[in-house]
Amino acid sequence: MNTKVVKKRKRFRLKTQVLAGLCCVLMVAAGTCAYMLFFGEKSLIDEAYANADTKTKLAGEEIVSDVYKNEDCVYALHYPKFQNELLDQKINAFVEKSKKMKDEQGAVYMDYDSEKVFDQYVAVSMKTRVYDQVENKKPVQEVTNIQDAFVYDLKANRVLEPKDCIRNRGLIPFKNKENLFVSDMDKSGITLGYTENGIIKEEKMNFEEKKNLFKLQNKNIPSILEYEPIVSKTHTVDDRPMIAFTFDDGPNGETTKRIADAFLPYDGRATFFELGSRMQWFPDVTRYLVEQGHQVASHSYDHPYFTDLSVESYMNQVTQTEDIFYSLTGHDITVFRPPGGFSNPEIEANVGVPFIMWDIDSLDWQSRNKDAVINEILPYIHDGAIVLCHDLYDSTAQAIEAILPILAEQGYQFVTVDELMARNGDSNEG
Ligand SMILES: [Zn+2]
Repeated sequence: MNTKVVKKRKRFRLKTQVLAGLCCVLMVAAGTCAYMLFFGEKSLIDEAYANADTKTKLAGEEIVSDVYKNEDCVYALHYPKFQNELLDQKINAFVEKSKKMKDEQGAVYMDYDSEKVFDQYVAVSMKTRVYDQVENKKPVQEVTNIQDAFVYDLKANRVLEPKDCIRNRGLIPFKNKENLFVSDMDKSGITLGYTENGIIKEEKMNFEEKKNLFKLQNKNIPSILEYEPIVSKTHTVDDRPMIAFTFDDGPNGETTKRIADAFLPYDGRATFFELGSRMQWFPDVTRYLVEQGHQVASHSYDHPYFTDLSVESYMNQVTQTEDIFYSLTGHDITVFRPPGGFSNPEIEANVGVPFIMWDIDSLDWQSRNKDAVINEILPYIHDGAIVLCHDLYDSTAQAIEAILPILAEQGYQFVTVDELMARNGDSNEG
């Protein structure tokens, strides 16, 4: 046994030596070729571009160098090959675009930087410089300088979009920026790029500093998520007239789930404008609503009238509620209803998501009576109606159980506020 092992080792060492020798010969040959190609005659390609700069390529990929030249045209393209079909396709599209330019321009140089982050993301930045002609075998006047940077998620197998990385709240400051994209990532954060007056600008967001705004799923990236993100039951709408029932001030341990279940026979959905404080008391109810595909929206943390508060205190009500909801569900709040309906344009602009009021008020908090609630809703119902109720009362649950079959019979479908807005062509992003 022992001798065999020794023999094997010897053979291995021998092989390594042979290989090392071969490598040396090859490297010398390659070096000579490269030298002859670029410097042997008067150089068409700047020395810096003859070889790829290996110091900027850190993702463990294969580096491909494609070099071509003749009397009035030259290109040197260095690009990565990752053995990932979709990622390589994206790179190749860029390479093809750069190659095409050589037919029209004098010189095209392309190089890139790469980095692998947390073994899941690859940040790539491709850079192409185009010169209009070659004179005296030297490229003259740069005409184009294109940079194409992106971050690829190897696990999800696609290019990362800002909304894959950052929660709704974190993207609000960027909502008027053109061509927003993820331009870079390293271990400390991501960089968002956007175009302003034709120039690409960048802004870095640090993982640790903005912990509550990140939604990337990787154990190395801090997150406030406390539960598995919820995959909601899907819901499709059709051509029938729509009603959006909305329920404020919950969740409630008894009535919220009962009201939600009243929509089940009609495959209907509703919107629950919840208080952050109550989400903390009834996290299972909030999660149940999201699982069922109902919309959970924000109605502040504990129901103060925003018109009485400083900007700082009402924004705290907003972000606190959004963070609680995110930590419970992995979902974002997309719309808001101010407590008591009290608001003004400044408050609305600061909160940054659409404010949703109502056009039918059930007055259920006042009557606490099933028939009275029905009578406040039924005569006024119309396509596109937004009905205000509260999921705190047994009488409201009874009224909803009684009214849904009647409205379904009349041909209505029950939808969320987001679904109604989508049908009406309102964007909840602007
Ligand atoms: Zn309220």
